[in-house]
Amino acid sequence: MKHNFGAGPGILPHEVLKQAAAGVVDFNGIGLSILEISHRSPDFEAVLDEAVKLVKEELGVPEGYSVLFLQGGASTQFAMVPYNLLPENGKAAYVESGVWANKALKEAKFFGNVEVIATAKDANFTYIPKDYTIPADAAYLHLTSNNTIYGTQLQEFPASPIPVVCDMSSDIFSRKVNVADFGLIYAGAQKNMGPAGTTLVIVKNELLGKVDRKIPSMFNYQVQIDGGSMYNTPPVFAIYVSMLTLRWLKSKGGVEAIQKENEAKANVLYEEIDRNPLFKGVCKVEDRSHMNVCFVVENPEHEKPFLKFAEERGIDGIKGHRSVGGFRASIYNALPISSVYVLIEAMQEFAEKNK
Ligand code: PLP
Repeated sequence: MKHNFGAGPGILPHEVLKQAAAGVVDFNGIGLSILEISHRSPDFEAVLDEAVKLVKEELGVPEGYSVLFLQGGASTQFAMVPYNLLPENGKAAYVESGVWANKALKEAKFFGNVEVIATAKDANFTYIPKDYTIPADAAYLHLTSNNTIYGTQLQEFPASPIPVVCDMSSDIFSRKVNVADFGLIYAGAQKNMGPAGTTLVIVKNELLGKVDRKIPSMFNYQVQIDGGSMYNTPPVFAIYVSMLTLRWLKSKGGVEAIQKENEAKANVLYEEIDRNPLFKGVCKVEDRSHMNVCFVVENPEHEKPFLKFAEERGIDGIKGHRSVGGFRASIYNALPISSVYVLIEAMQEFAEKNK
């Protein structure tokens, strides 16, 4: 058995994979694959409707917001957000908390002025910058809730006088958020929601239609809303598996229940990192992520042997991102706490052998 600590695409629940595999062969017993049926058929419309309904339920999306399943990954949202929300002569405020935030702000510069109001670049993004003033005259504030590469996470969102846009790619559905505090939330599916290929966007309708520029249809939120995420052929399979994953989440007790489990997993793993003399955490303690746990070995000579030691125990995907090094254990929703204990035991055994 493999314990999948991979950062992205992340782990999917085994039962969801089995259901998805069955749907690829024969969807709901209709004698056709989910990959063959028309996206305009009542069968697929039911899948999309259920996916939207589950997003609304699980996140408590209030009235006045639209839920979209788009394509192009979170990276397309880096451009689509300013395309739709940043007036040509206006400005947007960005917090640079990691590489993804940096990519987002670079894209925004194609559309208007960007003010980077805080950055953690000085310390290789090992903390969440919190010391800033949000400019009241900016069109929006852009945040990244969880920095997948560095293992930092916003534990509290700032009170903002302007709409908050948040990239929640790597912690959506992992904890409760108050959607009403945000103007727009986006997330690539491939960590906690489903396979790569669709991107969730939750947008407050009243923010749209305020920029003068012409927006091509595929990049226009209003066109996508009017088309019910079906302006063109939607990513049918990715939406189907996302819907199955959201059903699974609901059956587990929803976001509230999974948040408790995620906290328990993160706590035991960080405890071991802090206790074990061979390992140490990389991020500021108060900003540690509950999704991506980054750590290093005190003695660099232990790095490769520990990776091998872990792999021999079925522990997969813990090599840190190439820009950070060390280890990164991603403990997304579908990873059971039993797998975290397997990793902890490996760390303990390895420490015992290398005293
Ligand atoms: N934002 C965050 C926080 C991410 O972790 C990632 C990918 O890992 C992205 C954006 C880019 O997502 P995509 O590959 O869907 O464009």
